[in-house]
Amino acid sequence: MADHTDNADAPLQRRGLMFILSSPSGAGKTTISRMLLARDEHIRMSVSVTTRPQRRGEIEGKDYFFTDRSRFDRMVEEREFLEWAEVFGHCYGTPKSHIRDGLDEGQDFLFDIDWQGTQQLYQKMERDVVRVFLLPPSLAELHRRLTARATDSVDVIAGRMARAQAEISHWDGYDYVVINDDIDRCFDKVVQILEAERQRRARQTGLIGFVRDLMRPV
Ligand code: 5GP
Repeated sequence: MADHTDNADAPLQRRGLMFILSSPSGAGKTTISRMLLARDEHIRMSVSVTTRPQRRGEIEGKDYFFTDRSRFDRMVEEREFLEWAEVFGHCYGTPKSHIRDGLDEGQDFLFDIDWQGTQQLYQKMERDVVRVFLLPPSLAELHRRLTARATDSVDVIAGRMARAQAEISHWDGYDYVVINDDIDRCFDKVVQILEAERQRRARQTGLIGFVRDLMRPV
């Protein structure tokens, strides 16, 4: 999406960014992502391909592209992913299609991917990537949220806690860390990060002409 000045001859182009929101489950990532997509028309979800079975309520093409392992492996061989990783026994990958062209056209993308995918994207496309990690406010609150989510057994909850803590251990691979103690406050902070990153000089590809015009002799 391009920004425009009132001078139609000099549209202020901006390069899109890859906004990665990661967190352990129970830290509010899904809610914050939904709020961001609902409020900001310039950012679109990057829809991943996964071999994990479709959950009730999930929509093909909106939440994920669901596939089987052999098709996924073929996509890996044919280099169709920008990144991919195995997470909790299932494969997940970001398809290349649309992302690269979208960024050139100024489209921002929101990524809900794990730390492994974040590292891969950062290594490949450092200048386009913004890495944000959400943390729960305390261990007790994380436990409460993971317990409140479903009617699962003690073992299942303990497994989720262990996985969440394993994910938290990767917090230092991110540019920004936001503690989600209040969903609205957390959301405001995430929006501030996104807005600030959009103003980075390197992303405002149309600035040179605009600034030159501002400096022309009068
Ligand atoms: P879930 O199965 O609960 O939707 O997601 C499990 C985990 O996989 C989450 O941590 C999510 O961020 C991660 N994930 C989802 N899509 C991708 C992807 O395309 N690449 C990577 N690396 N991780 C992903």
